[in-house]
Amino acid sequence: LFVSFEGGDGAGKSTQLAILGDWLGETLHREVVRTREPGGTELGRTLRQLVLHGEHVDPRTEALLYATDRAHHVASLVRPALERGAVVLTDRYLDSSLAYQAGGRELGMTELRDLQMWAVGGLIPRMTFLLDLDPVLLPQRITGSLDRLESAGADFHRRTRETFLALAADEPERWRVIDASAPVDAVAAEIRGHLAPVLGV
Ligand code: C5P
Repeated sequence: LFVSFEGGDGAGKSTQLAILGDWLGETLHREVVRTREPGGTELGRTLRQLVLHGEHVDPRTEALLYATDRAHHVASLVRPALERGAVVLTDRYLDSSLAYQAGGRELGMTELRDLQMWAVGGLIPRMTFLLDLDPVLLPQRITGSLDRLESAGADFHRRTRETFLALAADEPERWRVIDASAPVDAVAAEIRGHLAPVLGV
């Protein structure tokens, strides 16, 4: 079972992924692989460092670096885990590239979608949770230093959010849109409720 978490920075994706992972592992006794993009593999951690903290790169280069991370992540970690029956939870997946690079950076949606599908050999999550949050709430939620993307302008974050919502509306059978401003426990319970039927519990 392959599940992705999407949404803007500071929406609580990593917190929710951790809570869900504990429930799947400790309560349901499933093998759980928790991972992230960019940076789920050793190569990916190098790419993450380069794209978020290295020399400034143009939007196409950035898009290709994210796609490179993703191709390697799927081939070396995600697919093998799914093949042995694990539940894979990923903090961001290909929809982040559609929202940030096609939406935020305004690169072409069709080309970017083709690039992602090629990079991952067509692997799409069974369920994708969009932790939706108005970007005006962001500054209060992000602690520590901002990376290059987090400090991008308000319009960038607004386009990114709108693209996530449009993607979710296009494919309602895969996406579940969650109000990320709700309390952590309520969000976690909602996520479990959506997955329970898929897990047969
Ligand atoms: O969520 P995480 O902190 O791992 O994301 C790192 C940064 O990379 C974030 O600022 C996010 O906005 C950005 N990002 C991006 N395009 C992607 C994936 C992440 O701009 N495809």
